[in-house]
Amino acid sequence: MLLLTLAVACSRPAAVPVVAITHVTVVDVEHGTLLVDRTVLVRGSRIERVDSAPRVDLPRRAQTVDATGQFLIPGLWDMHVHMDDARTARQLLSWGITGARVMSGGLEETLALRQHVLGDQQQGPRLYVVGLALHGPESFADDTGLGLVGTADAGRRAVDSLAARGVDFIKVHEGLSREAWFDIARAARKRGIRLTGHVPADLTPEEASDFGLMSIEHLEFLPDKCLILFDSTFRARRTPAPAGCRTAELERLFEHLHRNGVWLDPTIGSFRVWAPRQWPSILAGFGDVARLIREAGLPILAGTDLGSSGIPPGASLHDELALLVASGFSPAEALRAGTRNPANFLGVADSMGRVDSGYVADLILLDGNPLADIQNTRRIASVIRSGSLLSPAVLDSLRR
Ligand SMILES: [Zn+2]
Repeated sequence: MLLLTLAVACSRPAAVPVVAITHVTVVDVEHGTLLVDRTVLVRGSRIERVDSAPRVDLPRRAQTVDATGQFLIPGLWDMHVHMDDARTARQLLSWGITGARVMSGGLEETLALRQHVLGDQQQGPRLYVVGLALHGPESFADDTGLGLVGTADAGRRAVDSLAARGVDFIKVHEGLSREAWFDIARAARKRGIRLTGHVPADLTPEEASDFGLMSIEHLEFLPDKCLILFDSTFRARRTPAPAGCRTAELERLFEHLHRNGVWLDPTIGSFRVWAPRQWPSILAGFGDVARLIREAGLPILAGTDLGSSGIPPGASLHDELALLVASGFSPAEALRAGTRNPANFLGVADSMGRVDSGYVADLILLDGNPLADIQNTRRIASVIRSGSLLSPAVLDSLRR
């Protein structure tokens, strides 16, 4: 009899989870406004509706969350991570990171992790992967040698084989010759895969963007000689900036990048780890540059370079948002850099990066208003991943 009951129970299709979040303040990240006292009904993996009046007809089996005094934002993206293990993926999710762009890791491992999370979405963020970063032959950065590209021909072959493996982006890194770089760019374009990454010393940021570099990582959107703008001695002396790095020249550079539809992923917090002694002047210098970036209207992505030692998973993304605000971006702009902008950049803005009906229910419920204080993104009450509510206890277990 028991066996029979079990068999019947098992054959019943799994019920689609329904979650109703009532009395919540929805943060419209796009407009930087608050929509108070909403009822957000999530059915399956999607937001079914967002109502302004309290609903009396909530589905009886809905899991109801009274979110009075709480704020709902889209799940966050870390757009620059290096990782390929399940544990880090779970830790990211525990911090409300429901999406991540993996800018290298092991090729097989990152592809497998992407699949693993697709199969069980409560195990981590949805992942976009580059597989391997492509480096020049002198590069330090790849001890496996798999991504080393010595010739243009090798560059083409690398793009073809990565494309065949189903990567989402091609990442170019340091040390590539002009010829190899341009051939990689051509091959990627032919394959319809977008190019992302660094600007090698042989190219200007303008050239790289003319040739299809869609996002520029770290501070690589500046010519190398302009890195002096972040130097403490240079800043203390208040001497004029070198040619090519003066305000009007940077304005022209940023306008050029903007015309080409480039996105910047400054990973500003990573410099605190890489150059701790220079950090105060780097942050101050970035504040100056950020003003020009904002004026040019260049869109920003929030990324951390997780994987470099000293950068903690998840917490570092919240830190990055706070540092963007410290650099002059508004809290709404910082939130967009971690939500709406990644969705736009990835071409999924019709289904992600907003709290609205029809959108994927990757959400974070916060105990404080992030538009009033960006630090409130850390005050996570719960995370909803693909429609499933992850309680504080679950988040805690993911974090361990
Ligand atoms: Zn990186």
